[in-house]
Amino acid sequence: MKKHNFSAGPCILPEEVLQKASEAVINFNNDDLSLLEISHRSKPFVDVMEHARALTLELLGLENKGYKVLFLQGGASTQFLMAAYNLLNKKAAYLNTGTWADKAIKEAKLFGELIEVASSKDKNFTYIPKGYKVPTDADYFHCTSNNTIFGTQIKEFPELDIPMVCDMSSDIFSRQLDFSKFDLIYAGAQKNMGPAGTTVIIIKEDILGKVERTIPSMLSYKTHISKDSMFNTPAVFPVYVSMLTLQWLKDLGGIPFIEKVNQKKADLLYNEIDRNPLFQGVVATEDRSIMNATFTLTNETLKDTFDSLWKEARINGLNGHRSVGGYRASMYNALPLYSVQALVDTMRELERKA
Ligand SMILES: *Cc1c(COP(=O)(O)O)cnc(C)c1O
Repeated sequence: MKKHNFSAGPCILPEEVLQKASEAVINFNNDDLSLLEISHRSKPFVDVMEHARALTLELLGLENKGYKVLFLQGGASTQFLMAAYNLLNKKAAYLNTGTWADKAIKEAKLFGELIEVASSKDKNFTYIPKGYKVPTDADYFHCTSNNTIFGTQIKEFPELDIPMVCDMSSDIFSRQLDFSKFDLIYAGAQKNMGPAGTTVIIIKEDILGKVERTIPSMLSYKTHISKDSMFNTPAVFPVYVSMLTLQWLKDLGGIPFIEKVNQKKADLLYNEIDRNPLFQGVVATEDRSIMNATFTLTNETLKDTFDSLWKEARINGLNGHRSVGGYRASMYNALPLYSVQALVDTMRELERKA
């Protein structure tokens, strides 16, 4: 039986997706060839790419609204600079909610003036700043919807007249939002969509073409849009597995369905963290992420006992990020409720033993 996988990324994928993906590696579409050995320009793969792009728009409710979808390489980390390269003319406004936002800021500074509208660095990124002002003359506003490492999540996004760019790497497709509020969304696949190796970009075409600099072809959104995400060889396997995962999500009932499941999982775990005197949450309650829950022991001498309990329960990937310590339970879309129950059971067992 498979382990309960709370890994933060790369992370759990649905069993049926892994099954189909493994079949395609041997014999794709019953055509007696592997998905890995056919041309990315062959019809079977072009269909995969088109289906992945169409599913992305459909699930986000962004069809026929001027958005294009790309599957590029280089991870979300390349998007930190690519977004700025393509959009930052004079100045940009950034919300700093954690390590990833901080890295995005560092890259954007290479391209122009950067206004940090607010930061939660003062409390080690354990809350989401609110009530900040975004300058109306900035080229765009950038935020990170879910702070994967510290476990906070933006619940309300600002209403702006300038383009809004969002790194949704760790919570895209996990909850309902008005995605049309965003002009550029990007997400590394390996947190909630597929394997490592591809990054989805959803971009409103009309925000492009406003910077004066010359952009190298590979770093220009326009290049990739004009070639339907096939300017160069795409990461065929990660795109295929992402497509399968998006299809799996659609068949389940899409984001409205999975959001309810995700909320249930998060409630189950956070209720135990709050009830059990041996545990405490790391971040401000109202900003808790439903994807990545961070918590610590109230009594560090119980660490070895707890660690062996959850390992015996066949739980994987519960150690916190090295910059935070403690524990982090990542509860992405494909994680079943019974895995969260298994974790809660070990927390209760620790309470009985202590
Ligand atoms: C993991 C992560 C990244 C980095 O993604 P790569 O694909 O490794 O470049 C960026 N932003 C967020 C929010 C993440 O969780």
